[in-house]
Amino acid sequence: MTPRPQSRARQVAVRREPVPTVRTDGHLLQARGVSPADTKSDRKPVQVMKFGGTSVADSACIRQVVEIVRKAAKQNRVVVVVSAMAGVTNKLVEAAARSEAGDGDSVRTILKTLRAQHFAAADALIPSGPRRQLLAAKLTKLFDDCEGLCEGTVLLRQLTPRARDAVWSLGERLSSPMLAAALEEAGTSAEAVEAMDVVVTNARHGAADPLMDLTRARCEARLRPLLSGKIVPVTTGFIGATEEGVLTILGRGGSDYSATIIGAALGADEVVIWTDVDGVLTADPGHVREARTIPEMSYREASEHAHFGAKVLHPKTLRALAQCTFPVSVRNTFAPSRPGTRITPEGAVKSSGVKAITAITDVAMIKVGGPRIAKVHDVLGRTFAATAAIRADILLTSHSSAQNDICLIVPAAQAGPTVESLRSEFGPDLRMEVAEHIRIDENAAIVTLVGQNLGATSGLVGRTFAALGKKKVNILATAQGSSDCNISFVVEKKEVKAALNTAHREFKLGNPQISRRATKRK
Ligand code: ADP
Ligand code: ASP
Ligand code: MG
Repeated sequence: MTPRPQSRARQVAVRREPVPTVRTDGHLLQARGVSPADTKSDRKPVQVMKFGGTSVADSACIRQVVEIVRKAAKQNRVVVVVSAMAGVTNKLVEAAARSEAGDGDSVRTILKTLRAQHFAAADALIPSGPRRQLLAAKLTKLFDDCEGLCEGTVLLRQLTPRARDAVWSLGERLSSPMLAAALEEAGTSAEAVEAMDVVVTNARHGAADPLMDLTRARCEARLRPLLSGKIVPVTTGFIGATEEGVLTILGRGGSDYSATIIGAALGADEVVIWTDVDGVLTADPGHVREARTIPEMSYREASEHAHFGAKVLHPKTLRALAQCTFPVSVRNTFAPSRPGTRITPEGAVKSSGVKAITAITDVAMIKVGGPRIAKVHDVLGRTFAATAAIRADILLTSHSSAQNDICLIVPAAQAGPTVESLRSEFGPDLRMEVAEHIRIDENAAIVTLVGQNLGATSGLVGRTFAALGKKKVNILATAQGSSDCNISFVVEKKEVKAALNTAHREFKLGNPQISRRATKRK
């Protein structure tokens, strides 16, 4: 392989011998020994910047990202967390499924298309030279390994959770070396870092969570020396590894979570989530045209907003920040001068009332009830034990103590196993019954009002229900009171758009006069 050109920062680090060194992906660096007072750069703020799929969708977008990082790196020690190019993970999910089905032809076609897409971007960003050769070798190796894994799966027609995570993770593993090479090409020292080396997780494949003490130690060992050496680490989002080094993924859309995990581990000064809209908006702009940017939110508001369906942040993003105080900003890669949304522990002072409206549509409503259910012993406790046994995510519950009817909303994908688990729990009690006690409604959706101090603001529910009533939007169930930050209700899926727009207008969240956002088309 052609050696990588020496960057200035690397030369500086090398001169610090005889302090022990480690060889990383082309840079020779100090493993330890750079004390905080060693260099001026160690006094600069640490900023973790995450770029989503649309921000790295093609070579033009990646150039825009390079500009943002270059500018930020002048005043900060920057860690980049990068997603797969837009649409790539969806294709890999399909490739994994086709492999399991034994459809080798489809898998080869998908991987061939992805290979062409990545090489086209790489060619445009780095047309020639040793850096180009190194990058091409890296991309080729990653594609070859993934192809081998898929071929094995095609033969066995079996996709283990480990193999699935490995296939799904390819997109991030490709975009990280590509962005690092593009930064170096533009004169900013950068190095691709596999998140497997820094984010240590439990073994819950598909939805892993970090083990923070180990992650902190790994971030110190792997990322801190790069920052001290003025090198921008470009880490893969979405991915981690168990302590034994087995690759895991954090869940779809999980790169936001990667950014806050790494930010918390490094004790960062700020995390910036760069995306394709002007921050967190008052509603999904795909449903509500008048949606506009929320300037400031609290961790709690943003967390509930994400939990109840706002796609802009992964639901676990704020979870990593339990002990942190730094702001998380959400900004537009394609309009970087706009301030976006700033999420802080407390949010805007004295802010209360409805700030945003969200919806989750891929859910199912399960009702445990019927005439004899009231006589079943400990029906509530056993219902939740049965759902916990299959780790169902209960998004909302509502129940009437008079009849003991229980209404649960779960993600659509978990509806089947949840009903099965409930039927097996209550089967012996209800064997003699003719009526069906556990019913499922797949036409339901959750709509949620999000804001601070909602409990202390009178009339919210009345106003919402009256406004929805006027538009003939029927409310199937409600949940309120357990949190001060949300009021949720269930409507039919086909009514979601009407419900969102009606509530948005009722609380005057939009401003049609304001030019709302400069979005990049997906
Ligand atoms: P990225 O690829 O940067 O991770 P995502 O597609 O995951 O971006 O999230 C950004 C998208 O989330 C926006 O393009 C927007 O369509 C959608 N979205 C849904 N609800 C909201 C909201 N309340 N605020 C901002 N964006 C939202
Ligand atoms: N690429 C992954 C996904 O599409 C992770 C992410 O984009 O955050 O789910
Ligand atoms: Mg996302």
